[in-house]
Amino acid sequence: MKAQVFRGVNQLSYEEVPKPDLGADEVLVQVKVVGLCQSDIKKIRYPLYEPPRIFGHETAGAIAAVGAEVKNWRVGQRVVVMHHIPCMHCGYCLNENFSMCDVYKNVTTTAGFSPAGGGFADYVKVPGHIVEHGGLIPIPDDITYEQASFVEPTNCCLKAVKKAQIAPGQTVLVTGAGPIGLMFIMLIQYFGGRAIATDLIPARMEKALSVGAEAAFDARDPDLSAKIAALTQGMGVDTAILAVPSDKAFFQALDCTRKGGKILFLLSSPMSWKFLLIPILFTGEKLI
Ligand SMILES: [Zn+2]
Ligand SMILES: [Zn+2]
Repeated sequence: MKAQVFRGVNQLSYEEVPKPDLGADEVLVQVKVVGLCQSDIKKIRYPLYEPPRIFGHETAGAIAAVGAEVKNWRVGQRVVVMHHIPCMHCGYCLNENFSMCDVYKNVTTTAGFSPAGGGFADYVKVPGHIVEHGGLIPIPDDITYEQASFVEPTNCCLKAVKKAQIAPGQTVLVTGAGPIGLMFIMLIQYFGGRAIATDLIPARMEKALSVGAEAAFDARDPDLSAKIAALTQGMGVDTAILAVPSDKAFFQALDCTRKGGKILFLLSSPMSWKFLLIPILFTGEKLI
């Protein structure tokens, strides 16, 4: 089969690799669509992982083969593949710090070499633990593979929005209207909140409005905090969500968030190493 193999920093090579062998409790999925995550770009551009590896984790496809002991799945079923799932019973999982769970960190889908997601290949193998514990999700007939490939990033954003406890009527600043920012805008509306977006690119600001942002501003606008104050009865937003890895965006969020409000970081930054050290999801309460 073909795969896009990570051979070193900034070195991807489209190669013939062996189709994965299947264990008795495993499932082989033919990849139909795989998303390109910012974290994939980070893994390719920075020396974080030993090559060779096959990345790709926003995977939707069709089951191509099932192991002898797999009972609940059949060839041809359309599925989303979760590349890793938590064990649900360790100390981290019981405290809902699922992404700290050792099983979550270390058991993943693979298309060969050290397991690393494997979605950038024709076929990806799903380990038994993931098959058995909810990591394969059937795709309803009216959902396309392209739509289904958004399950993983949407899930990250959903987790953040739930953590921020956005309530109906609350105002939320979303800094950055890229794919993640747009998902935030849609989710904020889903929970009854009002989204205000910022970005530097006019087309993204337009897109933010088209998916339901109440207002969208240029992040360089010197009157930004005044404009946001005007939309929030002079108080500032209840919550700011940082969907860009930028120091400036953080200080802007401080200016635009009301006293007692919340600022939430969703960070996976290839640009700013210090942000890489911060847990991917962190909420802090604004005290001043
Ligand atoms: Zn992703
Ligand atoms: Zn666990």
